[in-house]
Amino acid sequence: MTRERMRVMVIGAGQMGSGIAQVAAQAGFEVTLQDLQDAYVERGLQTIRQSLARFVKKGQLSEVQVGEILGRIHPTTDLEHASDADIVIEAAIEQMSVKKEIFARLDAMAPAHAILASNTSSLSITDLAAATKRADHVIGMHFMNPVPLMPLVEMIRGMQTSDATCDVVFALASKMGKTPLSVRDFPGFISNRILMPMINEAIYCLYEGVAEPEAIDQIMKLGMNHPMGPLQLADFIGLDTCLYIMEVLYTGFSDSKYRPCPLLRKYVEAGWLGKKSGRGFYEYG
Ligand code: NAD
Repeated sequence: MTRERMRVMVIGAGQMGSGIAQVAAQAGFEVTLQDLQDAYVERGLQTIRQSLARFVKKGQLSEVQVGEILGRIHPTTDLEHASDADIVIEAAIEQMSVKKEIFARLDAMAPAHAILASNTSSLSITDLAAATKRADHVIGMHFMNPVPLMPLVEMIRGMQTSDATCDVVFALASKMGKTPLSVRDFPGFISNRILMPMINEAIYCLYEGVAEPEAIDQIMKLGMNHPMGPLQLADFIGLDTCLYIMEVLYTGFSDSKYRPCPLLRKYVEAGWLGKKSGRGFYEYG
């Protein structure tokens, strides 16, 4: 890379994309933040402003620093800006068809040396890389929510990802103040392969009447030192997302131990998706 500092582009200014753009700008990188419409990019910028304001309140950033950080974030709706990026981090919606189209377009626009990373929480990096002619430059960069606060980045190495790509992305994540940990490209990676079956099992306990939701959550909080019980966590993640990831594990491994609990399916059918819909295993005002 000839530039002194890599130029980062983030695709999707939602919950995750705005957080990724923020931590990249906080680390001193120039960042282009892209989404489909001006209103979506503006919503992402608003999320960033609110997050930075919380850092100021805690005395961790000054108003001057916030101005500098915001000055490094360049909003756009134009994917063509990929022509000036050294790394693109995609954080659009979790749909393979959408991500493949973005990756094919980025492959045509981005410089040959540019790395194409995805923040997918469950989709195959190897499959995504097949939408490009640079599979060795494609990698998973799975940030955790909320990005500005969570230290982990799960690095997913596709079948064809090169060592050089891994090295660049590890260095980038470290400069963003994160701890990158490498995993291979199998369904659910590590984080969701372990977390989601635990949540699913908690839902089975409720389904079979073993205990009430509050008791299930308290047992895991008080007994296992988990900061949040599995049912409350499922409500925060979104029950549709939990079901989707269980389906990825179930079909990906063809193993019945990953079958989604029928009660989880019923809640999703009822539109009880957790906190975002006002009702999941608990009710939210
Ligand atoms: P979100 O719905 O908040 O944001 C997605 C954004 O992508 C939206 O602003 C949408 O307008 C935009 N978008 C959709 N299609 C696009 C396109 N073709 N080009 C550009 N932008 C497009 O979703 P999110 O929670 O930020 O999730 C984004 C990604 O991060 C998903 O792949 C998700 O699985 C992954 N992820 C989410 C979490 C989480 O806790 N929410 C955690 C880790 C990873």
